[in-house]
Amino acid sequence: MSTITKIPTILIIGAGPGGLALYHSIQKNLNGSELKFKVRIFERESGPADRWQGYNININRCGITSLLYCLPSSLQSRLPEAMPDPVPGEHHGFTSIDDTGNLLMHPPFKQMKNLFEISNSKNEYSFVVSYRNKLRNLLLEDVNVEWNKKCVGYEEVDDGVWAIFDDGSRVFGDFLVASDGINSPIRKQKIPELKVMDLGVTYVIVDISPNKKLIDKWMPYFRNSLIHESLGPNGDTVFVVLRRIPVESDIENRSDDQIHYRMLMYYSYDTDLDIRETESKNFDLNNNNNVDLLVNDDDPNSVVRHVIERIKKLRKPCELRDLLIELWECVPLATPENYEKYPFNTYHAPRRRQMRDIDPLSVEPWETTRVILLGDAVHAMTPILGLGANHALRDAVLLTKKLENFEKEGWKKCFEQYEQEMRIKSSKGVLASREVILLEKVQKGYIGAIIRRLMYRMIDIKNYFVAFLTDYNILSAPID
Ligand SMILES: Cc1cc2nc3c(=O)[nH]c(=O)nc-3n(C[C@H](O)[C@H](O)[C@H](O)COP(=O)(O)OP(=O)(O)OC[C@H]3O[C@@H](n4cnc5c(N)ncnc54)[C@H](O)[C@@H]3O)c2cc1C
Repeated sequence: MSTITKIPTILIIGAGPGGLALYHSIQKNLNGSELKFKVRIFERESGPADRWQGYNININRCGITSLLYCLPSSLQSRLPEAMPDPVPGEHHGFTSIDDTGNLLMHPPFKQMKNLFEISNSKNEYSFVVSYRNKLRNLLLEDVNVEWNKKCVGYEEVDDGVWAIFDDGSRVFGDFLVASDGINSPIRKQKIPELKVMDLGVTYVIVDISPNKKLIDKWMPYFRNSLIHESLGPNGDTVFVVLRRIPVESDIENRSDDQIHYRMLMYYSYDTDLDIRETESKNFDLNNNNNVDLLVNDDDPNSVVRHVIERIKKLRKPCELRDLLIELWECVPLATPENYEKYPFNTYHAPRRRQMRDIDPLSVEPWETTRVILLGDAVHAMTPILGLGANHALRDAVLLTKKLENFEKEGWKKCFEQYEQEMRIKSSKGVLASREVILLEKVQKGYIGAIIRRLMYRMIDIKNYFVAFLTDYNILSAPID
């Protein structure tokens, strides 16, 4: 007599980096020799090119090792499409300066030949700047995503869980993984007390393609690193991530103003500045002189003008400020013509957004059930340290490893262990990213800016010392 064992079905909601990495990882690591889990993945978008997937992101050593763990070898070998090897003149490092160009921090990054070298490196700062949209496309390969399925909630029953969609349909599975980003309706239902925290910082993020002439003037301020930060004395921050790989393939006969690069840039400042300004404007709304100060977030031109005004108000005149304004003037104000040639494939209109995060340790441990959370859905973090996607990928690895014990230990134990470790590890990333954002938004003034500079330089020196000891095996390399 044969016993028929039911193969459990895992429903994944959200086809972002976290959900897709988990999908691949289960297929590769758990279903390799025999089918242990059926997996279905649902996405609210209508297809791969529905929405902007734009910006450049930093994938660090942990993110790379996680991707290598999750992806089949056919996709591993294609990862350089999304995260190309460094080209001459590129340094995959980070440099922080003040508003006039004085160095604050330049941690001891080591230039690696390629992502595979980074995965074996001891240097905790190593990373590769990756094209997020291309990474997403790569992760979509060989995955049968069920598009146009916006999940609005779930219903848990004794032997499984129903995912409920906005088209009125319901799908039954044994388990439900919510990897549906910061606004996850599943998190709101499962852990209503776990709130999104607004950090009181406004930012405007854009993808631009400035020309070589401009970039050649900008880069020396940042020691040719690919990630740049410039901190103003009045709580404003400029953050840039770029690659120096030309957008155009035929550059030989082009002049420097005809060669372009892909760049992510954001500008952030204390939200109170907007609140105070709006209040004073309301007081005087009939005065036409105020009209150009009003921001209309649905009008890209108005948003870009607002950012430029802020930069002029918060930073003193200097060459760096002029270059910064020139960069903001590169922002496309409508869907670019010649769309197919536009380097980001989709257009993302600039608008003011709030820096927000979610700390999973800010609430008591929740009950472990058949519904679990992964990535931004449970631990969104601000972009300043470039950790969010790396943590989402790490979750995919962690959950897969716990599921290896599914038959021996049962689902509850596997999920409990996953949640416990995920909460602790990701909370560190959330709080570290939050701390930096809150520190940077404080208006420093002249003396404060000097103290900040000294502080950053001291941290930098300490980082170099630790990296030196690690290189010579005097200290062991930190574990991701
Ligand atoms: C400006 C900026 C720069 C960043 N830079 C970096 C960086 O350098 N390095 C880094 O590691 N991270 C970075 N991040 C963070 C990173 O992008 C996120 O942490 C990462 O995308 C999270 O992945 P995820 O899969 O958990 O969620 P998401 O990427 O948010 O994906 C969620 C998916 O779920 C779908 N979805 C949402 N709701 C539903 C629903 N109800 N039903 C069905 N589907 C749904 C969405 O359409 C989406 O496809 C940055 C973020 C920003 C904003």
